[in-house]
Amino acid sequence: MKNICIIGSGISGSTIANLLSKKYKVDVYEKAKGIGGRSSHRRYLNNLGFDHGLQYISPKTSKFKKFCSGLQKKRVLKKWQGPHKFDHSKVLENKKHTKLIGVKGNNAISKYLLKNINCIFGYELFKIERIKKNWKLSFLNGDVKYYEILIISIPFAQSKKLLIKFLPTFFKNKNVKMESNITVMTVTNKIKNNYSSFLFNDEIVGWAAKENSKNRFKYKYDLWTIQSTFKWANRNILNYRNNKKKFTSFFN
Ligand SMILES: Cc1cc2nc3c(=O)[nH]c(=O)nc-3n(C[C@H](O)[C@H](O)[C@H](O)COP(=O)(O)OP(=O)(O)OC[C@H]3O[C@@H](n4cnc5c(N)ncnc54)[C@H](O)[C@@H]3O)c2cc1C
Repeated sequence: MKNICIIGSGISGSTIANLLSKKYKVDVYEKAKGIGGRSSHRRYLNNLGFDHGLQYISPKTSKFKKFCSGLQKKRVLKKWQGPHKFDHSKVLENKKHTKLIGVKGNNAISKYLLKNINCIFGYELFKIERIKKNWKLSFLNGDVKYYEILIISIPFAQSKKLLIKFLPTFFKNKNVKMESNITVMTVTNKIKNNYSSFLFNDEIVGWAAKENSKNRFKYKYDLWTIQSTFKWANRNILNYRNNKKKFTSFFN
């Protein structure tokens, strides 16, 4: 049986891992402490937490709708009831689109897909070599692993850096622009309004989600996930990265 290594436990990596595990032995390596990548869920206290990246899913193709409705039946996903406040003139949003969220957190899809798969956390791949018929993988923690088949499921710029000597010219010359995002996860006194989320028409603040409205927990304070606009984050991300300690509390 071929042994397959997948790098990245985001929605893409976990989907590929789940499909291949039906026929092959699959291991998933993830640099973070938990599952989900850009759909990760940050725990705050007990069952309280924030959806850090992906906010909701609105399936559009019939295949994806079917997949999501299967996950609703299995109580992995559920509808996020509104009202959702839409205040943006330049962004098109069909208010009738269903907003689906994870029952316990938005990393639910990855968690579900990876539940029977060997997933190894805290492993950041930094070097790939070809030794005879195997891929030699070197991880930042000093470990080295060998696999017959390697699948990289991480953002394009990072994959390109890791794979540069194996890529055809087309991909070597290709650039994919990544937008930045700065997210604030904060706890406030109860704010009197009925809205579950806000899509703003503002230079700095793009979106705010009230985590309490997702009916995952009850709490005396409000938990808010507030995301900047891409435009503002693209301009300010370096300042944030260089002063991360100044802006970060509670989480480590
Ligand atoms: C702020 C934000 C909000 C979003 N909101 C929405 C939304 O509301 N609705 C929606 O549909 N989509 C949304 N998206 C997009 C959605 O989150 C992504 O398209 C999706 O999660 C990407 O999944 P992925 O598996 O392709 O990549 P990722 O989730 O990025 O997964 C890649 C994984 O690889 C790991 N990794 C990277 N490098 C290495 C390495 N060298 N070694 C080991 N592991 C590595 C990473 O830690 C990560 O877990 C949002 C994205 C962001 C950033």
